[in-house]
Amino acid sequence: MPRYSTLLAIMAVLSWGSQAHASRTVFLNGKIFTADPAHPWATALAVEGNTIIAVGSDNEVRPLTNNPNARVIDLNQKTMIPGLNDAHVHVVVPLGAYLNAPTFIPGPGPTLAEVQATLQAGASNTPAGTWLFMFVGTGVSEDPAATRFALDGVTANHPVALFAWAGHGIWLNSLGMATLAIGDFEPDPFGGFYERVPGTQLASGVVHEYAEFRVRRALLDLLPDAALVGQYQTFAGDAVRYGFTSIQDVAVGLTRDRTLAVLSQAALPLRVRSICFPLGLSESCEVHSDGGERVTASGLKYITDGTPIERLAFLEGFYADRPGWRGYSDLGSALPGILAAALALPPRAGQLLFHAVGDGAVDGVLDGLQATGGRDAWANRRTRIEHGDLLLPPSYARARDLGIVIVQNATHFALAPLFAQRFDSATFSQMEPLHTLLDQGIPLALGTDGIGRAFNPFLDIFLATIHPTHPSEALTVEQAVTAYTRGSAYAEFEENRKGVLAPGRLADLAVLSQDIFTAPPFLIPSTQSVLTVVGGDVVWDAGAL
Ligand SMILES: [Zn+2]
Repeated sequence: MPRYSTLLAIMAVLSWGSQAHASRTVFLNGKIFTADPAHPWATALAVEGNTIIAVGSDNEVRPLTNNPNARVIDLNQKTMIPGLNDAHVHVVVPLGAYLNAPTFIPGPGPTLAEVQATLQAGASNTPAGTWLFMFVGTGVSEDPAATRFALDGVTANHPVALFAWAGHGIWLNSLGMATLAIGDFEPDPFGGFYERVPGTQLASGVVHEYAEFRVRRALLDLLPDAALVGQYQTFAGDAVRYGFTSIQDVAVGLTRDRTLAVLSQAALPLRVRSICFPLGLSESCEVHSDGGERVTASGLKYITDGTPIERLAFLEGFYADRPGWRGYSDLGSALPGILAAALALPPRAGQLLFHAVGDGAVDGVLDGLQATGGRDAWANRRTRIEHGDLLLPPSYARARDLGIVIVQNATHFALAPLFAQRFDSATFSQMEPLHTLLDQGIPLALGTDGIGRAFNPFLDIFLATIHPTHPSEALTVEQAVTAYTRGSAYAEFEENRKGVLAPGRLADLAVLSQDIFTAPPFLIPSTQSVLTVVGGDVVWDAGAL
């Protein structure tokens, strides 16, 4: 016992000593939104080492400047918020010659004829064998002539892949199929399908859901790790300029092991929660390595349906603009096995994230949870529904009781004109709840759904605060920022470490270029971070302070 207490005393001295030498930064004279419901606003904040040690008024915090190691920063009335936490991103994408950008949201994008012309021009100045990529929308997905045969005539020497900009649907040419070893009569895999030439089993080159995710895996298998490391570094460098200090990444196309190997080489300036994206139940999501500093690995993501854009979101009823058609259920009878496997893991490691857009998909998840223990088994496991656009009023109460967390991407609200065609008016009038989720006590997090590049969170915050589809569902700016910080932290079981500015929490914060709480809404998307701090380290400094 004496030896033990001596050891404790030495440890206490050591930790006291290291704190005395830890750097201290004191911010004064700011407009600080803490996202802490007990004390939402402050003017001053002090950081020591990687931790916040005080938040309050200038008078309360100023005494902490009496320290030889203290650096004092006058915020000059600038706005500080907790570091943003993007709850839903996809950093890595295939590399090739991208011939257009997905800048036509929510428009239809190029027609098939325009795609052919662009591919022809691209093929003429791109070395043979290089992948040619384009983003497409309904201009192609609504055209039954858009098959590999329409693409084969453009170039015989380049594999081609057209990506639905919303991330659901790929169109390959024949060389692309051959390059990825997809046979003419390839059987459908778990969770997805190949479209067929009508009346035959011949694959048309149009690939959906888990068949598509296999294509993405094969395309990323062509790339060296260094290329993926570069993508993470570029993404993170842009993200910290927006004030992100955390991202929750689903690397569609990478195994758990490869993702962590890449992240450990990337040495990123922000925190990454890496979420496993298995291509089937047999694929391992075990964590064998730590992915490096600032990286954690937990959770499993499954896709339960597509999107309303290509009419593969899975509905209880029929699409208004395609009678008799309900969409597609990716997981089908595999769901019980997925749920049972998750229940065998601790809540954070085994947290399930389900992409579910249609009401049939959302209710399918809720039915599955109820059939595997219901509230007792699931209330504390924070099962996430990503998007949840058709979480409809009859399901609110059981979603709350089953511990569901909704992760929404407000940019999708801009698709309302298309959704008004896809759904009957009663469904349309109830879709994409936001403010109602808070009223119902259903936890809400926000994410950009950024694919391949960092998206602007302030565009999301703007859209969440006007909700163009249903203005009565709009959030206040405070609520939107809270969903993007405290809400996103809750969605990854991290609310005790981050998401609010309070003593004892990690010093993850951003100082903004303008006051988003008073700016006219239409100016909010032009906001940037002028100072981003992760764990006390300045990771982005625009030189404005
Ligand atoms: Zn996504």
